[in-house]
Amino acid sequence: MEPTTYIWMDGEMVPWEEATVHVLSHALHYGTGVFEGIRAYQTEQGTAVFRLTDHMERLHRSAQAYQMELEWSVEDLTKATKELLAANELVDGYIRPLVFLELGAIGLNPANARVRTSIITWRWGAYLGEEGVRDGIRVRVSSWRRFPNDSFPNAKATGTYINSILAKREAVQAGFDEAIMLNQDGAISEGSGENIFVVSRGTVYTPPISVGCLDGFTRDAVATLLRDDGFEVVERVLDRTDLYYADEVFLTGTAAEVTPVREIDNRPIGPGKPGPITQRAQELFNATVTGKLTTHPEWLEHV
Ligand code: PMP
Repeated sequence: MEPTTYIWMDGEMVPWEEATVHVLSHALHYGTGVFEGIRAYQTEQGTAVFRLTDHMERLHRSAQAYQMELEWSVEDLTKATKELLAANELVDGYIRPLVFLELGAIGLNPANARVRTSIITWRWGAYLGEEGVRDGIRVRVSSWRRFPNDSFPNAKATGTYINSILAKREAVQAGFDEAIMLNQDGAISEGSGENIFVVSRGTVYTPPISVGCLDGFTRDAVATLLRDDGFEVVERVLDRTDLYYADEVFLTGTAAEVTPVREIDNRPIGPGKPGPITQRAQELFNATVTGKLTTHPEWLEHV
């Protein structure tokens, strides 16, 4: 990762190298943090952040679920993000807001721990590789089940990502690009950091949030754009066989954007290359985030 000049921490622009924390920080010991991943894109009207307010609202909901008192409002955080992008002279890139418990408590009742808020920005290309975006990736169904939402709230909390990390590392070590996680009932939930879509006989399916998957903004945007374009998009509980019999499968997420899946558990999906509906989803999404398709101007927040 290439450092940028500043990191925003609790209202200050701190030089990148100085944005450090103490080793006794509660979040380091117990995973008590919540975060977001957001992307900024270059458009003809300058830099725009995709669904910035939505992401900062989700950050607030995650903090609420874990009882972390965030001292910055959604408006404060959106303003800080825009100022940081400008200060770092980034025309596009990835934005990582992170709220975490620092000093003031060590032990399992962090009520007195200081809540720190930071925003980091950097340049980040295709998360699953340029080649993956073009030709599709190879995935495996993980032997690790996704954490159930009766054990953790459905939120973007740092601690729960240790579950995703087990799945991702297992997949990569076995020679795959990404893992698909099942829930406790064996239903398809999501990738380690992406939502999943399955195309079968012209209909587009995605699992409902209730199976245990993140309520992704890319998932929502792609479903909306495909519906606007005349496709039927249905939320349905899917199982492993649905993946094997699919005509097309793709993943969505802020980092992954729209990434086609060409193979699952060593079985080719369709002809083993990105299908027409996946390609249409990519086209619609890419045109929207770069401001070329203007059917949802509310999603682009200009710097
Ligand atoms: N699922 C998980 C587990 C994720 O970490 C992410 C990335 N935030 C997503 C899905 C996709 O969500 P979004 O489209 O809002 O980035």
